[in-house]
Amino acid sequence: MTRFVPHPRLLGSPRHRPWPRWPEPARPVRADRPPTAAQVVVVGAGPAGLAVTAALWHVGVRDVVLLDRDGRPAGRFLDRVDRLEQRVLRSPYEHHPGVEGYRDCELRDFARVHWGVLTAVERGEVRMSQAGHRSVVPVDVFEAYCRHTAELHHVPDRLWPAEVRALEVGEDRVAVRAEGFDLDARYVVLCQGEERRAAPAGWWTGDRPARVGYWDEPVPADARRVVVVGAGLTAAHVIHNALARGGEVDWVLRAESERYQCSDVNASFFRAEGRARFDGVPWERRLALMARERRASVMFEFRPILAEAEANGRLRVHRGRPVGSVDAGAVVLGDGRRLAGDHVVLALGTVPSIGTGLLPDRLVGARDGWPDLDERTLAYRRAPRVFAAGAAACMVLGPAARNIDGHRVASARIVATVAARLRAEVAAHV
Ligand SMILES: Cc1cc2nc3c(=O)[nH]c(=O)nc-3n(C[C@H](O)[C@H](O)[C@H](O)COP(=O)(O)OP(=O)(O)OC[C@H]3O[C@@H](n4cnc5c(N)ncnc54)[C@H](O)[C@@H]3O)c2cc1C
Repeated sequence: MTRFVPHPRLLGSPRHRPWPRWPEPARPVRADRPPTAAQVVVVGAGPAGLAVTAALWHVGVRDVVLLDRDGRPAGRFLDRVDRLEQRVLRSPYEHHPGVEGYRDCELRDFARVHWGVLTAVERGEVRMSQAGHRSVVPVDVFEAYCRHTAELHHVPDRLWPAEVRALEVGEDRVAVRAEGFDLDARYVVLCQGEERRAAPAGWWTGDRPARVGYWDEPVPADARRVVVVGAGLTAAHVIHNALARGGEVDWVLRAESERYQCSDVNASFFRAEGRARFDGVPWERRLALMARERRASVMFEFRPILAEAEANGRLRVHRGRPVGSVDAGAVVLGDGRRLAGDHVVLALGTVPSIGTGLLPDRLVGARDGWPDLDERTLAYRRAPRVFAAGAAACMVLGPAARNIDGHRVASARIVATVAARLRAEVAAHV
């Protein structure tokens, strides 16, 4: 039977179940140093860095060093979703983080191979995907698939934990200055993801007030009344968690109403009709599209839960209310009304990392907060040996560049370019 309504138990998909055929124990974070030179250095081992490194392996580029702050494939992404107790991805099965153009086992194939591990509700989602309908992927399946992809493409052999501090771009190489060591690369691919958006200056003066945190920080277990600011999925998770623990929530929305949406729809930008909305379109029009498509929204699965909590008074939604200021455990609205709680959570979204701080500003060439990238290759126009994948590529690929599906599209462009240039360089030296 095919269902078309969100299943109420989907949001509670189990986490950390044992997966068969995993190499055990998991590889420890390594302590040795990477080589002093590599053909390609990839910065960031999130889903984007994983996709790029796996794709390089497919085209035969094996002299690759992958550097990441904490050294775990997709580690920051998984830490973030676990902090929020997010049990399912927002994106459907078709948005798999595999390699474009190669018949690897895709995310849905992986789920089907592990049918016996899935719950009945999760199996229903796989069937929905097979039938061409919208589906929802458990984080547990996604993590296991990332690990499978990493092992299949020998990513752990190429991954070192390190913060990259600076890139010095030369004529025929890039010097990568990392925490504790340097190395030379022919090419560098930046896959830095996004940082959380900070509160605007003016919400408080001096240090952050007590009992105020961000969405990626823990909420104290004894906080009974929580004030949540923000309109997106991270806000919805914080609210859901507080309600599930028996608490009460004040939800502050700048917009006139909350916006519910199916699992990620932005990937329509990768279909022909979507590309037509972005390709050859003037910069100002792209900016407007980005602003519209990046508007915060909440997965439909939350709607009945939040509506019920609002009806019974445990959730008070303050719609169309901008924040005036924030103090210890309280939010003061623009109209002067004070919402006091045990804890305030700011869920203000994320800001793309575009290479600023690693590259000199003149090479990033930022315009309206976006880097100056070559449309065809995703190389920095002013530093053609350096490429950007992930959120930084949004003004070229569209709003879904930051999402799992976008990483595959970005990787295909970058890897084809890097492989071709490396081949040409080798040929020139023969
Ligand atoms: C809570 C949450 C839920 C989301 N859910 C979905 C979803 O369901 N589906 C979807 O498609 N998208 C989702 N997204 C969007 C999501 O961010 C991306 O899909 C994915 O995480 C982006 O991958 P990434 O590799 O670009 O970035 P990240 O996962 O952030 O990885 C970037 C990595 O680079 C490292 N790094 C950055 N700078 C440096 C440096 N200088 N030196 C060394 N390492 C560095 C970071 O520490 C990090 O490990 C979600 C985002 C959030 C915040």
